[in-house]
Amino acid sequence: MARQKVGSIGRALLRHRGATSTVPALACGGLASNGPSPAAAQKCCRGGETCGSEAPKAPPHRHHVVGKKRSEESLTVSGRAYSSTAPKINHKTYLWARYNEMKRLVHDLIPPGVCNLLNPSNIYANNEVNLAEVDIYGFDYDYTLALYSNALDAMIYDTARDFLVKHYKYPEGISKYEYIPNFTARGLHYDIQKGLLMKIDAFHYIQLGTVYRGLKPVPDEEVMELYGGTNHVPLHQVSGFYGKGPKMKQYMDVFSIPEMTLLAAANDYFITNDIEYDPVHLYKDVSVSAIGMVHIKGYMYKWIMQDLEKYILRGDETYAVLDRLASHGKKLFLITNSPFSFVDKGMKYMVGKDWREFFDVVIVQADKPHFFNDCVKPFRRLDSNGDLQWDKIKSLDKGQIYKQGNLFDFLRLTGWRGSKVLYFGDHLYSDLADLMLRHGWRTGAIVPELEVETRVVNTEQYAQSLTWLQALTGLLERMQVNHTCQSKKVLEDWLKEREELRAVTKNLFNPQFGSIFRTCHNPTYFSRRLCRFSDLYMASISCLLNYDLSYTFYPRRTPLQHEAPLWMDQLCTGCMKTPFLEEMAHIR
Ligand SMILES: [Mg+2]
Repeated sequence: MARQKVGSIGRALLRHRGATSTVPALACGGLASNGPSPAAAQKCCRGGETCGSEAPKAPPHRHHVVGKKRSEESLTVSGRAYSSTAPKINHKTYLWARYNEMKRLVHDLIPPGVCNLLNPSNIYANNEVNLAEVDIYGFDYDYTLALYSNALDAMIYDTARDFLVKHYKYPEGISKYEYIPNFTARGLHYDIQKGLLMKIDAFHYIQLGTVYRGLKPVPDEEVMELYGGTNHVPLHQVSGFYGKGPKMKQYMDVFSIPEMTLLAAANDYFITNDIEYDPVHLYKDVSVSAIGMVHIKGYMYKWIMQDLEKYILRGDETYAVLDRLASHGKKLFLITNSPFSFVDKGMKYMVGKDWREFFDVVIVQADKPHFFNDCVKPFRRLDSNGDLQWDKIKSLDKGQIYKQGNLFDFLRLTGWRGSKVLYFGDHLYSDLADLMLRHGWRTGAIVPELEVETRVVNTEQYAQSLTWLQALTGLLERMQVNHTCQSKKVLEDWLKEREELRAVTKNLFNPQFGSIFRTCHNPTYFSRRLCRFSDLYMASISCLLNYDLSYTFYPRRTPLQHEAPLWMDQLCTGCMKTPFLEEMAHIR
C-alpha cells in the first residue's frame, strides 16, 4: 500500500513537471518570460495600459514575444511596423487561469488518502552512518534511556511557581497561573532584558508572529521597533557556544519547557496588573533560583523515584534496545549528569535489577558539557553503597560505578575513539556538540518532539496546505514579472493567501510558536544546530529496533539552491521508509 502511495506521488510529480514546463510564461504586456528590466516594466505601465481595464493596450515597441503568439504580435523590424490582429491579453484572467491550473496539479499531487507517509519510528540521517562499523554505543540517561511523561513538566512548574511565592515573596496572584501544556516549545530564545520569548531562524531572524511577552503576542511592528528597526538579532547576543549569549538564552533542554512557561506566566502577572518590575531580576529568580532549586535540591529525582510508573515512559523498549545491542556483541556505556541512586532506581524499573550487566562503563554526575572539554576532574569510584572512594583510577571496569571524570581520561583508558563509537543524547550542546566538533564520535540526537510533529505532518490538512503553499510560492516567483496594475492586484491577493497558509501550517504544530524545526520555510536556530551536531536523529532510542545492526543510513541529497533537482532521491531514502519498516517489523 505504502509503495503504491510513493509511486502515485512520483507519477504526480512527473506529471507536474511536464505540465508546468508547457505553461507559457507571461511577462509584462506579453513580453519575454524571463522578466523585463524595471525600466522596461515602468515603460510598460506607462506605455498605455489603463489600470483595471480588461484589455490593456500593447506597449509601443515590442522586441520579444512569447510562444505561439509570436507571429501574430506586432513587431518592429528595420523600421517597418506590423500591426497585430491578436486579441489583447487580459492579465487578470491569465494569472487566475495559471492559479487554477496549479490548484488542479496540487490536487493530483496529494490526492485524498495519500498522507501517513512518515513513520514516527524512523531514524533520520544528517550524515552517512554504517552501523556495521559501530562497535560501541554510549548513552545519556534523562530523555535518552529514560523518557518522561508530561506529568513531570506540570510538577516542575507548580513547585518552582510556589517557591517563587513562598521564598522570594512574589505576589500571591502568580499562584493562580496553572501550567499550560504546549504553550512553549524547545529551542526558543528568551530575551532576558526585555522579557520576551521568541523563535529565531538559522539566519538569526526572529520569526514575526512568534514573539511573546508574558502570555500575549507582541505585534510585529513593536518587535521591529524593539530591535532597532529589524527582526535580526546579532550573533554575539544570541549565541555563546552553548546557546547562552549575554542578552539571550536558548532553551535546548526538554526539561526547560516548564521553565519557559513559568517565565511567561510571571511576566504576564506583572504586565496584566501593571506592576513595575525588572525582567532581569525575574529571569534570575525563575531560572536560576526557583527552577534551579527543583533540580539541584533533588525534588525532581524524588518525585520520579516515588512514582516511576507515572513519570517513566516506554521502559520495555529501553530494555529491548540494550538487550539487542549487547546480544550482538556491542560494548555499551552510560555517561549521565544524574546521581547513581536515581539512575539505578529508574534502570531497575525499565531494564531489571541486573541492568548493569549490559554496560561496560557507567559514569554518573559527569558534569557534561564540561566532561567533554575539560580535562581537570579525575574519575572517582563509588562503592556498592554509593560512597566515594579515594583510589586512583587506572582502568574503567565493568561492574563499577564512576563519578565525574573527563573524556580525555575516558579515551585514554578505553581506547574508544572515532567512528566506531555512537553516542546518543537529547541535549544538542551538552551531549553532542563537543563530541561532533572536537572528538569525532558519531552522534545520535533524541528528539521526542518528532513523534507529535510527525503526526501533524501525516495529516491530510498539513500535506495539502503545505503543498499548495509551495506551489503558490512558485507561482508568485514566476509571475512577479507582471507589473500591470491588474497583475499587481492579483499578486497581492496571492501574497495574502500565502501569509494565511503560513499561519495555518504553523498553527497545526503549536499556535504560539509552530514547529521546532522550521520558521515559515527556513530551518530554525534549533534545527540548524541539530543538523550540525548530530549524524542521526530520532524520536527515541527504540527507533533502533526497526533497523538491522549492519544498516547504513544515507542522508537525503537535498538539492542546494544552485543545483537542478535531477534526482528523485526523496522517493528512495530519508522520509519514505514506510515500506522498509513494514518489512523489518519482525525485528521488534
Ligand atoms: Mg538528557
